[in-house]
Amino acid sequence: MADSTASAAPQPAHPADRPVYVIGAGPGGLAVAQALRARGLRAVVLERAGHVGDSWRRHYDRLRLHTTRRLSALPGLAMPRRFGRWVSRDDVVRYLEKYVEYHQLEIVTGVEVFRVERASGGGWLLHASGGRELTGSAVVVATGYNHTPRVPDWPGRAAYAGEFRHAAEYRDAAPYAGRDVLVVGVGNTGAEIAVDLVEGGASRVRLSVRTVPHIVRRSTAGWPAQYNGVLIRRLPARLVDRMARPLARISVPDLSARGLPRPDTGLLTRAAEGAVPVQDVGLIDAVRSGRVEVVAAVDGFEDGKVLLADGTRLAPDAVIAATGYLRGLEGLVGHLDVLDDRGRPVVRGGSAPAGAPGLYFTGFTNPISGMLRELSLDAGRIAKAVAKHEGTAVSRLPG
Ligand SMILES: Cc1cc2nc3c(=O)[nH]c(=O)nc-3n(C[C@H](O)[C@H](O)[C@H](O)COP(=O)(O)OP(=O)(O)OC[C@H]3O[C@@H](n4cnc5c(N)ncnc54)[C@H](O)[C@@H]3O)c2cc1C
Repeated sequence: MADSTASAAPQPAHPADRPVYVIGAGPGGLAVAQALRARGLRAVVLERAGHVGDSWRRHYDRLRLHTTRRLSALPGLAMPRRFGRWVSRDDVVRYLEKYVEYHQLEIVTGVEVFRVERASGGGWLLHASGGRELTGSAVVVATGYNHTPRVPDWPGRAAYAGEFRHAAEYRDAAPYAGRDVLVVGVGNTGAEIAVDLVEGGASRVRLSVRTVPHIVRRSTAGWPAQYNGVLIRRLPARLVDRMARPLARISVPDLSARGLPRPDTGLLTRAAEGAVPVQDVGLIDAVRSGRVEVVAAVDGFEDGKVLLADGTRLAPDAVIAATGYLRGLEGLVGHLDVLDDRGRPVVRGGSAPAGAPGLYFTGFTNPISGMLRELSLDAGRIAKAVAKHEGTAVSRLPG
C-alpha cells in the first residue's frame, strides 16, 4: 500500500495519462478499483484513514455479516470457506486486506478528498488533504452510505447531561454491565446492540421504536433471508408485500403484546424506502422473554430525563442512539447538482449524472438483496461505463 504521497507527482498534461480516482477504500471502492484494473485501466484509490476497510474496523465486536459469505465476496476473489457462512467483522477486514494484495490495487491512504470539481481541459479536479490537487479522467465516489452518524434534532438534547452516544461508537457490552440502557432505533444495528447488551449483562435494556420494523429470520431451514431478497428485488412491491404477510406470520411470532405489532406497510414497500428488514439475531427471543422492553419513540430530553411520545419519562444510565447515518456528500459534490433532496446521488452504477460525465457513485443505496452484492455488481457496471465513455481519456496499465 502506498503512503500519502499522491501530491508529489506532477499532474500529466495529457488526459490519457490521468488515472481514474476512486474516493474511499471500503468494499465499494476496492471492488471498483479491481473492476477497472481488470479492464486494463489505472485506478488510484484515495482513503482518508490509514488503512483499507476503516468502517469495518470500527464496527461493534459481535458483528457478523447478515449476508452469506458467497454473496458477500467482491469480484475476483472468493472468501475462504473457513470464514463460515456468516463472516465475522475481523474476517471481513482480513478479506479486504487480502483483496488489495491479491489484485495489486493502488491505494493511497491518509488522503481525504474535500471537493470534486470539473477540471479545465476535461476530467475532474480533486482537492484533498495536504493541499493536494489531483486530476483524474474519471472519479468514482465510494465514501459510504454510513458516512456520518446521524442524531435527530431532539428538543433538549444539547442540554442533556446524561451518558449519550451514537451507535457508531458502540464496541461491546462491557461498559454497560449492571446498568440500565435505552437503545433508540430498531434498525439492524439497534436490534443487535440491544441483544448484545442483554447478553453482556446490562441490568435493563429498553428499545425505543418509532416505526415497527419487518423482522425476518436470518435463515429458515438453511435458506438465508438474503436469497429471498435477491429473488424478490425486481418483483412488483404490491405482490411481494402480499406474499410476505403470511410468511411472516409463520416464521415470526406475534409480539404485539410486547410492543412490536406487525407493520402496516408492506415489506418491499418499506425496503424501497430504504428500511431493509431487521434480521433476527436474537431480538425475537429477547423481546418475547421481556429481556428487551419495547418503549415508545423518543420525543426529546428534559430535566435529565428522556421524553417518550406516549408521555413516559425515562432516566436510563445510558442512551445509545442507533438512529442511522447521513451520506455526507454535500461538501464533496453538492455544488455539482448531482444530489437529490435527501442528499443521495441522482444516479448509481454505470450511469453518470447529466452534465457530469465521468463522475460515478457506488454504495449509496441500501438494497434488500445485500449491499456487498450490489457493490460488486455496480463495480462491473462502472468499469464498463468508464472504459466505454472515457476510454480515450484514461490512463491504461502497461502490457
Ligand atoms: C453495522 C453494519 C453491518 C453491515 N452488514 C452488512 C452485511 O451483512 N451485508 C452487506 O451486504 N452489507 C452490510 N452492510 C452494508 C455495507 O456492506 C457496508 O456498510 C460496506 O462497508 C459499504 O461499503 P462502502 O465501500 O460503500 O463504504 P465504507 O465501507 O463505509 O467505506 C467508505 C470509505 O471511504 C472513506 N472515506 C469517506 N470519506 C472520504 C473522503 N472524503 N476522502 C477519502 N476517503 C473517504 C472511509 O474512510 C471509508 O474507508 C453493513 C453496514 C453496517 C453499518
